[in-house]
Amino acid sequence: MKTPLILDIKGNSLDDGPGIRSVVFFKGCPLSCFWCHNPESKKIQQEIAFESGECIACDTCISVCPEQALSRDNPFFIDRSRCTLCFQCTDQCPTNAIRPVGSMLSVDDILAGVMKDKPFFDTSGGGVTFSGGEPTLNMDFLAELAGKIRKQGIHVLLETCGLFDFQMFSEKIHPHVDTLYMDIKLMNNQDHLRYCGIENTRILDNFQKLSRLYAGSGKELLPRIPLIPGITDSESNLSETALFLLDCGAERVSLLPYHPLWQEKNRTIGIGAIHENQNSMASFLPRERMDACRSIFMQKGITIV
Ligand code: SF4
Ligand code: SF4
Repeated sequence: MKTPLILDIKGNSLDDGPGIRSVVFFKGCPLSCFWCHNPESKKIQQEIAFESGECIACDTCISVCPEQALSRDNPFFIDRSRCTLCFQCTDQCPTNAIRPVGSMLSVDDILAGVMKDKPFFDTSGGGVTFSGGEPTLNMDFLAELAGKIRKQGIHVLLETCGLFDFQMFSEKIHPHVDTLYMDIKLMNNQDHLRYCGIENTRILDNFQKLSRLYAGSGKELLPRIPLIPGITDSESNLSETALFLLDCGAERVSLLPYHPLWQEKNRTIGIGAIHENQNSMASFLPRERMDACRSIFMQKGITIV
């Protein structure tokens, strides 16, 4: 069984499902949505990140780097074409300003990590959420982990982009997951290809199949739509999405508010401006726009959660 890289395990989350939750972030995603609020999770390989705000300019990292890959003349500090990922700099940094992104943890390591918070799950109706990146890139690992966690009486929630082999999902993952959150981003195939790096055909097909799988199962399937200014929040995209969801029998939807923090996070892993409208995406979606987006679904009888 392949062991994936884990980006982080975040405890005490109130934003990733019911109750107090521990969130396990997997590294690697088959999509490449440029607004990804977790850009460190996109690449499946390990990398290093640099946060200038944490750096005390001791220059230890510069002096230990055998490849001369670090320089204050470089706007991103790290020359990734020279870096061999030897991690000598990250080992020596006193503040963690330069740090490795992604570590290999076993199923039992993760289980032990989340079990510490079981009392919080029990008292709050919470549990464990798998997020990313895309956890289903590692079906066997995820199945074993989710199965072991659920055996402890812990609620398991999976957040997915929906791009997976449906048969494998229904056989390996579905039995071990109580709740599935699945993102639907753009109904237009060409827009999906342009902004998410891949066509949407399989994702929409999977959502239709999942709707049938979850109907009457006692488990929850919740579609989520990230509201990205000027891209996914258009009247036409949301109306078409609402009709698609109704057609699939969905009665509830979650609209995810836009967060511009991704632009700063991109810089820490060496990614500069990647979209022509990036400046207009520097602020949160105004409340009036959020309300207008909500009303598109509510008018069609879909409940916003
Ligand atoms: S990981 Fe190694 S090669 Fe890369 S910047 Fe750090 S010390 Fe240099
Ligand atoms: S070792 Fe850490 S704190 Fe010191 S210069 Fe490098 S990144 Fe900054």
